[in-house]
Amino acid sequence: MTDATPGAPRAIDWELVIGLEVHCQLKTHSKIFCGCATSFGAPPNANTCPVCLGLPGALPVLNARAVQLATRASLAIGCTVHGTSVFARKNYFYPDLPKGYQISQFDQPIATAGAIVVDETSEPPRAIRVHRVHMEEDAGKSVHDRFRDATAIDLNRAGTPLVEIVSEPEIHSAADALSYLRRLKQILEYTEVSDANMEEGSLRVDVNISIRPRGQSTLGTKTEVKNLNSFSSAERAIEVEFARQRALLEAGGRVEQQTLLYDEKKNQVRAARSKEGSHDYRYFPEPDLPPLRLTPEFIEAERATLPELPAAKRRRFAAQYGLGAADIEQLIADRTLAACYEDVARQAGDARRAANWMLGPVLAAVNTSGRPLVEHPVGPERLGALIQLEARGDISNTAARQLFVLMESEDTAPLALATREGLLQVSDDAALVSWIDEVFAESPVEAARFLAGERKLQGVLVGQVMKKSKGAADPKKVNQLLAARAG
Ligand SMILES: [Zn+2]
Repeated sequence: MTDATPGAPRAIDWELVIGLEVHCQLKTHSKIFCGCATSFGAPPNANTCPVCLGLPGALPVLNARAVQLATRASLAIGCTVHGTSVFARKNYFYPDLPKGYQISQFDQPIATAGAIVVDETSEPPRAIRVHRVHMEEDAGKSVHDRFRDATAIDLNRAGTPLVEIVSEPEIHSAADALSYLRRLKQILEYTEVSDANMEEGSLRVDVNISIRPRGQSTLGTKTEVKNLNSFSSAERAIEVEFARQRALLEAGGRVEQQTLLYDEKKNQVRAARSKEGSHDYRYFPEPDLPPLRLTPEFIEAERATLPELPAAKRRRFAAQYGLGAADIEQLIADRTLAACYEDVARQAGDARRAANWMLGPVLAAVNTSGRPLVEHPVGPERLGALIQLEARGDISNTAARQLFVLMESEDTAPLALATREGLLQVSDDAALVSWIDEVFAESPVEAARFLAGERKLQGVLVGQVMKKSKGAADPKKVNQLLAARAG
């Protein structure tokens, strides 16, 4: 920063403080307190029953699978899962909430105190702490665009099992917020806790934002931007709201605690019709559900089912395969790709070449075909064999690409295919020497100049040898032989 002009007011260095609340739909077949299906895209109100419609006298029964998935999610983000947690009623009126309350967890959530690493390259790795994880049911949906001048209510989502994952307010940039969200989504996908599909609403983000002069320890007044349904919206909403609060405070105004909605088209936030502050929810323990008790055995059994998590995979890929951070990030983006890569690397015996193939031709082919990776016709075994041929110099890079395309439509081993197509490189000295002799005989002037020390002619001569061999000569070998001849 430059020195301030004498007399001019010093610009305030504002610190951004972000807390994230992520609502994640658990991957169960049925709802959290009844047997209704959770399938996406059913006709309006088809997946409902007296329990999720909130009819008098209907009693909730907790879905065991939802508990299992909530436990697994909590463990995967390093939380302590509690032996006892309590469901509570969160009371508010809204047309899409027929009971007049939402069943959630309040002062005794299922899990607390976890962390998500957002940058492992720093020393020590930088992590954002997770304050708590609690279970709750989703509300229904108000549909504003189905009927003219009327709002329709669809209760298919009412009672869908969610976990809400709440970070500590210790994120200080939109970039870190984004990294936190990406990492969290990846963990939820790895553990198969959720589809984490933002378009279908199975992952939704609320962002709490406040600002304060850097160095101040008390938090500023926060606003909450609700229901962001993509990571890029979350990122832009943070930037827009940071700028709005800064301008407000610098103009001598103050930030009002309120709920905001982000308008993607206008790239601005606006006040939401307010539901209330948390003191208005009048939480009390849910009388129709006993406290949720989990035994240590149950918790440990769930821990044992966790797969290798992304953070561990990242570290292992760096140590075991010596790959760069950007390649690793792409390879571990999902578990299937990571597993397939490891298979190919093993078959090929060359981790770096295998990574280049996976991230280059293989992913390109998968994207073009629109089919999942596991259905790609060139499996790890044949791909590994192809990479071996290329690594040994038996075929050129160009030939390897050609063979890969052929292998997509016929199930032949790469060596047999290379032989049939005449793509094997000749690296046998006798054959190469005789081609070089022929070229020297046909171009005696160039040959003499080259032998007399005009090294720049080497390229021309290699070109002629390649031509004579119809592209079959191994150019590296030809170069070596020519260099040896020139002394
Ligand atoms: Zn139901």
